[in-house]
Order: sequence, then structure tokens, then C-alpha cells
Amino acid sequence: MDMYRENILDHYKNPRNFRTLENADVTHHESNPLCGDEITIQLKFAREGKVSDAGFNGTGCAISMSSASMLIETLKGKTILEMKKINQSDIFSLLGTEIGPGRIKCALLPLKALHIGIENYENEKKWK
Ligand code: ZN
Repeated sequence: MDMYRENILDHYKNPRNFRTLENADVTHHESNPLCGDEITIQLKFAREGKVSDAGFNGTGCAISMSSASMLIETLKGKTILEMKKINQSDIFSLLGTEIGPGRIKCALLPLKALHIGIENYENEKKWK
């Protein structure tokens, strides 16, 4: 088996940070009806605006779940600006492979949830 497939299956079977955070600053849910993937991403920020904790919950295919597990693992210590810069090619390098058009929505669902969650958080803060 290819190394990247093994790594994807490992994250799928043993997802990292698969848990609910209490008093999260960001909680955002996204779904991918094409495949049935459901993901909720959560973040907590420390005072200096860096991620102090991150977690996710959900159900879905191996690509969406392992992409979430791998992405969440990289978020601790990151600022909002740094997280906004994470893009498709970063996800491909985490997964260790490019994902074709049939599964791209699965691979990018966690990143979409992260980016929309951050946007909502920033918009809410503006009105406080
Ligand atoms: Zn999927």
C-alpha cells in the first residue's frame, strides 16, 4: 500500500483531536451532501489571538475525516491570519497526494468549515 494511503487510513481510524471543546470561541458545522460528510470544527483562542486548542467532530468518508484530523493537528499556535492563508495545496501536502475532482469537496470540507467559522467569529466580534 502507498505511504499516503496508509497515513490517510491511520487518521481515519484514529482521528486526532476528535472531541468537543467546552467554551469554544469558534464552532462551525459544514456538510457535503454529495458524499454525506458532516464536520464540526471548534477553536479556542488564547489572549494573544493564537489557537490554544482545536477539535472536530463528524462522520464521513476517509478523505474528509483524515483531512480534518490532519488539518486540526496543525492549528495550535496559529493566528487567524495564518489560518486564512491555508489553501488547497496545503491540504494536498498534508494528505500526501492531490485529490481529483470527484473527491475534492471531501478533502476541502474541513478547510471550508475552518474558514467560514473564522469569518463568522470575526464578524461577530465587530458587532460587540
Ligand atoms: Zn466524502
